[in-house]
Amino acid sequence: MLKVSEITAGYGRTVILQDVSLRVGRGEVVTIIGSNGAGKTTLLRAISGLVKPTAGSIEFDGRRIDRMPPDEIVGSGLIMVPEARQLFPVMSVRDNVLMGGYHPKVRAGMAQRFDEVLDIFPRVRERLDQLAGSLSGGEQQMVAIARGLMAKPKLLMLDEPSLGLAPIIVQQMFDVIDRICKTGTTVLLVEQKAFHALKIADRAYVIENGQIALENTGVGLLSDPHIKTAYLGI
Ligand code: ATP
Repeated sequence: MLKVSEITAGYGRTVILQDVSLRVGRGEVVTIIGSNGAGKTTLLRAISGLVKPTAGSIEFDGRRIDRMPPDEIVGSGLIMVPEARQLFPVMSVRDNVLMGGYHPKVRAGMAQRFDEVLDIFPRVRERLDQLAGSLSGGEQQMVAIARGLMAKPKLLMLDEPSLGLAPIIVQQMFDVIDRICKTGTTVLLVEQKAFHALKIADRAYVIENGQIALENTGVGLLSDPHIKTAYLGI
């Protein structure tokens, strides 16, 4: 479904990603783990069209997308939920969630979709009239994911959804992501919390200094000695 082939990308003259290749099959949950500054967000930004690769190619659903404008990439069903949520704090939760459903390709059927999405997030449903900025960190993250789902993703990319959340909320967050995966949405998940992320992953990549250092199944990486010491603190 997604095929990233040997891309190089960065900011101005600074090269961040070098020769990065990965693939995500339909229905798979693929995780990318890596430490601070390894290039995880830059990789998702490159796939979303926000950072243009200077070499290599990106294909989604059989079409080359690395030269497409970001809104066209969104229209093709590739949706990113950004790190730190980026909600509109002085707008209601309802309007923040609905915001995800305005692209012309998905606008029809928005009311029904809204209802289906809220079935996944009962907590968000209870808070529809509250200002988004007044929610807890975990609730705001749920709103950000709900907004992403409103766009009918074929592939949902989540950038560190557990960032800044208390440990008990982190578990709830991964339970929700697991449920979304089980409804058939393909997920590409970027995380520093390697243990949780690898547990729900079919396959995973490790990114170090802007390069893919390892690739394996989620279970395979959980028992890999390098991953155990470097990422799981075992
Ligand atoms: P984190 O988990 O801390 O978010 P990350 O793996 O997502 O890290 P990136 O955000 O992709 O890492 O950052 C990779 C490198 O790119 C870092 O050295 C960062 O300083 C640099 N970088 C990120 N955004 C920009 C920018 N807009 N301009 C210049 N350099 C940037």
